[in-house]
Amino acid sequence: MSDTIERIKCLIIGSGPAGYTAAIYAARADLKPIMYTGMEPGGQLTTTTEVDNFPGYPEGIDGPTMMVQLQQQAERFGTEVRIGMVTAVDFSKEVGGIHKVTVDNTTQIEAEAVIISTGATAKYLGLPSEQKLRGGGVSACAVCDGFFYKNQNVAIVGAGDTAAEEATYLANICSHVTMLVRKDFMRASKAMQHRVNNTPNLTVKYNTEVDEVLGEQVVEGLRTVNNQSGEKEEIEITGLFIAIGHKPNTDIFKGQIDMDDTGYIITEGKSTKTNLPGVFASGDVQDKEYRQAVTAAGTGCMAALDAERYLATIETNEEVSA
Ligand SMILES: Cc1cc2nc3c(=O)[nH]c(=O)nc-3n(C[C@H](O)[C@H](O)[C@H](O)COP(=O)(O)OP(=O)(O)OC[C@H]3O[C@@H](n4cnc5c(N)ncnc54)[C@H](O)[C@@H]3O)c2cc1C
Repeated sequence: MSDTIERIKCLIIGSGPAGYTAAIYAARADLKPIMYTGMEPGGQLTTTTEVDNFPGYPEGIDGPTMMVQLQQQAERFGTEVRIGMVTAVDFSKEVGGIHKVTVDNTTQIEAEAVIISTGATAKYLGLPSEQKLRGGGVSACAVCDGFFYKNQNVAIVGAGDTAAEEATYLANICSHVTMLVRKDFMRASKAMQHRVNNTPNLTVKYNTEVDEVLGEQVVEGLRTVNNQSGEKEEIEITGLFIAIGHKPNTDIFKGQIDMDDTGYIITEGKSTKTNLPGVFASGDVQDKEYRQAVTAAGTGCMAALDAERYLATIETNEEVSA
């Protein structure tokens, strides 16, 4: 552990669209933000080729380029972007308290305000053929990538509400959707199951799993296996959507900050305030509903504004009591 402790005004943890947008606003408000990027500089969008739905890019843009541009914009106003992983936190419970953060198990930072933008990680099946074709037809986001498979045949894996909702979303765009459900029932609510079962171009296959995703550069088909009979079947598809859940990146905050039972950070009303004064959360780490770059960016802006107001109130209180 290093001996020197750096004291700063505003720390941003995570470098996805939420973190960079928070950085742009915080830097322009002269909060002199320091950002730690984590293991995935640029966040989830660096794992996708085309982003077609972020406002301001009429021709679309590839994810990694968009994230480099966001970084450049944040740095233009003075954000200091550092490569590093926050490994431990010791948040204050007091208004005006100092939040202690450890980076890479060695560096100590003390911050008056902290913006958590550590995102969430989409779960995948883990098959080599699936991993090979991520970005080549395998996606974990139907709302993001479904449009690229307009009028084509696709498949989706999952059995919960999100999977059911994404399956019906895809059915509106695609010619046909095959939904693979591992068990002999769906976990989705009765209402969602009703929607699925009443969508004519959507077929549900129960007790069915992915055996292999077929194709070298892009998805050309899917071999499925019935986990009861062992029977294998090949279906022709061009897109495979994995909808088996996300894991919010909040392990280091456990026991420190209020979370829901799935580990998402709870924020207060329409704000980005957490239960701790001076700690704010933005992006997918506090949003299991929308999970889009533009909504992450929107809450990143809100977090910086909330942090700025919090710091201004503290400074005023200090002046009054001085
Ligand atoms: C395949 C795919 C395609 C997508 N396509 C689109 C699309 O076309 N349009 C769209 O709007 N959305 C798309 N999305 C969703 C979008 O990427 C997310 O909604 C968005 O990136 C969330 O932003 P975020 O800033 O909250 O977090 P993330 O992008 O998840 O970034 C989290 C950041 O936190 C960092 N981090 C995590 N833990 C730590 C730590 N301990 N210390 C420091 N840093 C840490 C990570 O390194 C990362 O930089 C897609 C998602 C996927 C998976």
